[in-house]
Amino acid sequence: MKVLVAVKRVVDFNVRVRVKSDGSGVDIDNVKMSMNPFDESAIEEALRMREAGIASEVIAVSIGGTKSQETLRTALAMGADRAIHLESTDPVEPLGVAKLLTKIVEQESPEVVILGKQAIDDDSNQTGQMLAALLDWPQGSFASKAVFDGNNLSLTRETDSGLETLSITLPAVITTDLRLNEPRYPKLPDIMKARKKPIDTHDAASMGVDIAPRLTVLNVTEPPAREPGIKVANAAELIDKLKNETGVI
Ligand code: AMP
Repeated sequence: MKVLVAVKRVVDFNVRVRVKSDGSGVDIDNVKMSMNPFDESAIEEALRMREAGIASEVIAVSIGGTKSQETLRTALAMGADRAIHLESTDPVEPLGVAKLLTKIVEQESPEVVILGKQAIDDDSNQTGQMLAALLDWPQGSFASKAVFDGNNLSLTRETDSGLETLSITLPAVITTDLRLNEPRYPKLPDIMKARKKPIDTHDAASMGVDIAPRLTVLNVTEPPAREPGIKVANAAELIDKLKNETGVI
């Protein structure tokens, strides 16, 4: 079976982002960009499926500017077989990404599509769910374990009330939690080899779907600065402060 994996280029999770002075968004000029961490788990899971003989091919897809190809190269260096880049200079919202992915699903006929549970730049947590709805496929979101058996997938997901295990029939959409696996680091020879692997590029606007934005960002502000914490000498002092200074008790 073919596995399609969606990977997004985002600001690296170690970067402390700054809001632009005009409040129109976050300044991403000259900051380190990386593959969305949840998408690293998505690629890793697909590679493990191929290594276990469950998947025959792993295809990475990314939507974004020319530099999304760097993220696709990372996916190829990790071990993906080939990549598809849908180029768009303007940011594409989750609904637009989900619609574009349906087109790739039509063309490639994968049996499993794996996405991260959320992109750490917009924190939307929407694309996988929207894709499953558009395709009318079952979905297993926030996967922390996936066991394939023929046409069936047993998927464990972490919820606030505990672990939930679903039985899902393929084809299906999966979104990954970080606990699903430990993504591998690409080795230098694999990074070199990845340069020769194909990236099929198309203009996102020519895919025949409406990707016009539905949302307007009105303003972006820094979160309020947090008061520095204090250390107390003992429990009695803590109780005293909670009672007399904060009014918590
Ligand atoms: P979101 O719904 O924006 O939080 O994103 C959830 C997941 O959808 C991400 O972890 C990716 O797997 C996928 N995704 C979102 N945007 C893109 C994009 N521009 N290119 C490729 N995959 C994306």
